[in-house]
Amino acid sequence: MSRRPILAANWKMHLLRADAEAFCEALTAEPDHPGVDVVIFPAAPLLGTVARGLEGSAVALGGQDVHPAAAGAHTGDVSAPQLLDAGCTWALCGHSERRRDHGEDDALVAEKAAACRAHGLIPLVCVGETLEERHDGRTFEVLSRQLGAILDAELDTFELAYEPVWAIGTGEVATPEVAQGAHDFLRGELRDRLGGARADTTRILYGGSAKPGNVDALFQGDDIDGFLVGGASLDSNQFSAMIGSLR
Ligand code: PEP
Repeated sequence: MSRRPILAANWKMHLLRADAEAFCEALTAEPDHPGVDVVIFPAAPLLGTVARGLEGSAVALGGQDVHPAAAGAHTGDVSAPQLLDAGCTWALCGHSERRRDHGEDDALVAEKAAACRAHGLIPLVCVGETLEERHDGRTFEVLSRQLGAILDAELDTFELAYEPVWAIGTGEVATPEVAQGAHDFLRGELRDRLGGARADTTRILYGGSAKPGNVDALFQGDDIDGFLVGGASLDSNQFSAMIGSLR
């Protein structure tokens, strides 16, 4: 089953408007990126700048987080309708930095993903084990629990990012075998719960210190459909090189 490759940039709490403008100008010098879906997840204050910068290109925009409610008294939060209004078609749900910094649990992540679907955004749901959980031999138990909450929400569609917490921002990338093993496990869970057709079409991105020097080897994995990239996505040259690897 061939799934369309996807490369996503998670800018986290980095960059200012001028940086974002320069990045978009470089990225959209080639507006189409044929054969690859490209998504940028900037910090909320940059959404307008990036939406303008990507106009006329095939590159999509996403929010780094989304509140389960459509509107309300939730200071500092952003709703799915607001993301849509800003030009987003995607939202990250359950990134490990939000699970860590904001105590987001599996149930809340599932509510966020459901809010995305209620308003037409594609949730990119992040799952992944900590180093301690991996050392304890609990990787698959953790992945099963995190994905299970999403599956229980019975969403009509979502995409997944496997992001081992020990590989995020550490420079320590999972080996192709470790990454493929986790992706294969996740695809198996999708198959068991959703059937073969959904399992075959749901993309599973790898995230964790992905960069131009390692994506070629990782992308050999049958179940690795693309990458969610933090650090290396801040440099348009590195990011464009990774798009080239997915073609
Ligand atoms: C991420 O933040 O989703 C990520 C994968 O970061 P990095 O590429 O820097 O490890």
